Amino acid sequence: MKIAFIGLGNMGGCMAQNLLKAGQQVWGYDLSEVALQHFTEGGGIVCSTPQAAAQEADIVITMLPAAKHVRDVYLGEDGVLATLKAGSLCIDCSTIDPQTIKDIAEAGEAKQIVVCDAPVSGGTIGAQAGTLTFMVGASEQTYEATKPVLSLMGKNVVHCGAVGTGQVAKICNNLILGISMTAVAEGMALGVKLGIDPHALAGVINSSSGRCWSSEVCNPWPDICANAPASRDYQDGFATQLMLKDLGLAIEAAGQVKQPVLLGGLVQQLYQQLCLQGHANLDFSSIIQQYLPAQK
Ligand code: NAD
Repeated sequence: MKIAFIGLGNMGGCMAQNLLKAGQQVWGYDLSEVALQHFTEGGGIVCSTPQAAAQEADIVITMLPAAKHVRDVYLGEDGVLATLKAGSLCIDCSTIDPQTIKDIAEAGEAKQIVVCDAPVSGGTIGAQAGTLTFMVGASEQTYEATKPVLSLMGKNVVHCGAVGTGQVAKICNNLILGISMTAVAEGMALGVKLGIDPHALAGVINSSSGRCWSSEVCNPWPDICANAPASRDYQDGFATQLMLKDLGLAIEAAGQVKQPVLLGGLVQQLYQQLCLQGHANLDFSSIIQQYLPAQK
């Protein structure tokens, strides 16, 4: 089986390494020399264009920053749909809007190429450990076809429904995550200002009804969770700019169906402000800085 992997960054790079470790042959492409270097070191075969990687591929996996990159890689001048053989399978794991993947799937269908969405949850830690959750938007038959390869990179492969519904699941989850992280930051900052020890407060929240992933696993207050980005100056986590992108996707999708997302809009503005303050690359739990006195 020939697998092509396009987009070998923080997530894609680790995911491709897990395919290589499982004994698969992987042909890869990325714009970044550093990403390609890591890929070669792990035994990957570097190609000079997306089309070269996809030549004769049975499966193409893409893990790219945003919708415009995904469109480019599938439908652009060097796009892979132009070169893939009929019967091949394309799995886009990027987080993008549901409509883009539906458009690409339609273009693929005309050439008997199957395209589906399988965005992920689990972050770079899950990508490294091979414990990602994949949210697959595909027909039942295509979902079954994705499972063997996705299982080499993750521990859960969930069928969400037709093409595009993987993205729906992903952006709704991250809408909730952005709001819940902000809620925990607001509560922690208030509690500490009112005089409670942050460890005592986190202990109470985590055994009470305020408990959630943001309070228990990724608490935004430093040194509550030893492995959380807040305990290493908000480095190496899920970047604020990516959370801002995902909130934008949820709000845009909500606009298309005229559904209110009141808290989402508010939290989007807070994340926008955090990016403007120069924290775009810090972990999104750094939203707590909006509630603390400015550092001198
Ligand atoms: P990244 O920026 O580290 O990696 C993206 C890679 O794509 C880069 O190496 C870049 O050079 C490459 N690229 C861009 N345009 C390209 C093109 N036209 N052809 C080939 N390569 C191209 O981003 P990431 O953190 O790996 O995230 C990738 C996707 O996964 C995003 O959609 C993100 O929202 C999603 N995601 C990220 C995380 C996370 O924790 N980082 C978690 C879940 C989902």
